[in-house]
Amino acid sequence: MKPTAFDYIRPTSLPEALAILAEHSDDVAILAGGQSLMPLLNFRMSRPALVLDINDISELQQVRCENDTLYVGSMVRHCRVEQEEIFRSTIPLMSEAMTSVAHIQIKTRGTLGGNLCNAHPASEMPAVITALGASMVCKSEKRGERVLTPEEFFEGALQNGLQSDELLCEIRIPVPSQYVGWAFEEVARRHGDFAQCGAAVLIGAEDRKIDYARIALCSIGETPIRFHALEQWLIGRPVGNDLPADVKLHCREILDIAEDSTMTAENRAKLASAVTSRAIARAADRIVHLDVKRG
Ligand SMILES: Cc1cc2nc3c(=O)[nH]c(=O)nc-3n(C[C@H](O)[C@H](O)[C@H](O)COP(=O)(O)OP(=O)(O)OC[C@H]3O[C@@H](n4cnc5c(N)ncnc54)[C@H](O)[C@@H]3O)c2cc1C
Repeated sequence: MKPTAFDYIRPTSLPEALAILAEHSDDVAILAGGQSLMPLLNFRMSRPALVLDINDISELQQVRCENDTLYVGSMVRHCRVEQEEIFRSTIPLMSEAMTSVAHIQIKTRGTLGGNLCNAHPASEMPAVITALGASMVCKSEKRGERVLTPEEFFEGALQNGLQSDELLCEIRIPVPSQYVGWAFEEVARRHGDFAQCGAAVLIGAEDRKIDYARIALCSIGETPIRFHALEQWLIGRPVGNDLPADVKLHCREILDIAEDSTMTAENRAKLASAVTSRAIARAADRIVHLDVKRG
């Protein structure tokens, strides 16, 4: 099938794009990497009057690190997150998780902003962004800038917190301390498929006792879930050989997962416990200078 007819605009500046969005907000589709939008257009599940292509706005393609924050333009493509040194050296959790996202052809086009806006419940990056406590910077001509937390941005399955005249412009990500261990683990039917369950983990420890934990899961609900209960339980626990098995047991006790059409709640809870304990074990192995007092 082919899309229904639409007008097409490809602005080269952000103010121009925001002005077009303000004028046509009731019937416009924003085209980033097109990896989710194009199938929707081709199957005529989306029939916009106008497609606003944001691929030529160089401002949305920038990445910089300043004052322990990584500023990532929404049009930064998946392959850059996976491969570029600035990501690998500051937030390797993102690069590692990106290896589980889709396939090379999709990663050369798909963008971080498009992936987050798509808000797929089984998508890896929303969980990573949630664990990292990033902020989504949204802009409109009328209201200027709004900054949303992951909890505000990921509203539901395939639903984001953007207003119809807003563009996601930047993702601001606090760079974790160099002493923090990190890992992303998932189970998927095939490598590159959406996750059946995934866990993004950051943990830190001093004198071999955990004193920092941030954990978020994907594919166990409509939005990424920050696993606060497990984070609290981990604080003060020793980093040792028993940790993964203890985590696995405890997860099963405290996870509250609803049944869905693809898997029973019990099986998904088993999966979530397994990927979470695996991610915690690997993150614990990566904690740096465990016995050195941190500044
Ligand atoms: C075969 C296949 C396998 C895949 N596997 C995975 C996977 O395992 N994990 C995973 O996470 N993803 C997966 N994806 C999705 C892919 O990674 C892309 O991230 C995703 O398709 C959206 O990114 P995009 O840049 O292509 O956005 P687009 O398709 O261009 O846009 C997606 C949606 O977001 C809106 N949008 C895009 N950018 C903005 C913006 N800046 N501001 C406001 N709205 C915006 C668009 O209007 C559209 O509604 C897969 C895709 C395919 C085709």
